[in-house]
Amino acid sequence: MLKPNKAHHFRDDFMTHNIRFAPSPTGYLHEGHLLSALYVWAMAKLKNYHIHLRIEDHDLSRARNEYIDSIYEDLEWFGFEWDSESKQSDRHEIYETALKKLNKENLIYGCHCSRKSLSMENPSSPDGEVIYQKHCLNKALPITSPNTIRLKVESTLIQWNDLRLGFFEENPALQCGDFALKDRLGQWTYQFAVVIDDMEENIGMIVRGEDLRNSTARQILLMSLLGKTTPPLYFHHSLLYDPQTGLKLSKRQQSQSLRAERMNAIAPEEILGRLCFKQHLIKNKCSISLNDAILLFSKQIEGYLQQK
Ligand SMILES: [Zn+2]
Repeated sequence: MLKPNKAHHFRDDFMTHNIRFAPSPTGYLHEGHLLSALYVWAMAKLKNYHIHLRIEDHDLSRARNEYIDSIYEDLEWFGFEWDSESKQSDRHEIYETALKKLNKENLIYGCHCSRKSLSMENPSSPDGEVIYQKHCLNKALPITSPNTIRLKVESTLIQWNDLRLGFFEENPALQCGDFALKDRLGQWTYQFAVVIDDMEENIGMIVRGEDLRNSTARQILLMSLLGKTTPPLYFHHSLLYDPQTGLKLSKRQQSQSLRAERMNAIAPEEILGRLCFKQHLIKNKCSISLNDAILLFSKQIEGYLQQK
């Protein structure tokens, strides 16, 4: 159950003036999530966006309620406030409607390739992603579990602008090919759920880590196939790396959770100060209030926007 918040529906006058913070409850939040949250709240402050909290629990085999609870507890502990919220596991019918629309236009098909054959029979992109070669396109397999449901991706150049990283021109057919919308277990994929949510929730600005930059072209393509011709604006921020391993902070790397720091009675202002220092937003390590941290991140974003 979602905890009640100030508003559960959108005001019409906001429409595409929404920004979202969208953590997935597959582990506890860590400093990398806090960085993302600060960018989201800072952009919202700068551009007067309405903030939407989305719990991305599309992967039901990995999402857990205790992690959802902890997301709320962590955000509230820092003092973050938001205007509306949603949870992907409540939105099955919305995704189903969008899938039917694609099916009606003959844009999806079933695939029974195993994980093993996928990686053996298809080329992969430089970052190790399988580029699916339409192996099952003409087999007329049922579009139900245990088959994967895939989108027909024609070769198309997608042009888009990142507010920090600049102009991109990418072809999803060469990045991933016919990507999955629903997996073998009948679960919605990240790529599908996030696009439907961004459309339905009128997200006009997407702020997220640059590890998701590669998903942008295919998401714009899927949006356009569903009738949205004006994509949102994008801002992909830099990531935090573990100084010991050099790897991106992640749940899988067992990065220290914000929850653990909260339990150890470390003050949120201390964590915010530490993060601002790491980001070179302050010269000396000190405690910082949430409002001041958001202000510092807003100034950094403003700098990027002025360069564009
Ligand atoms: Zn296949």
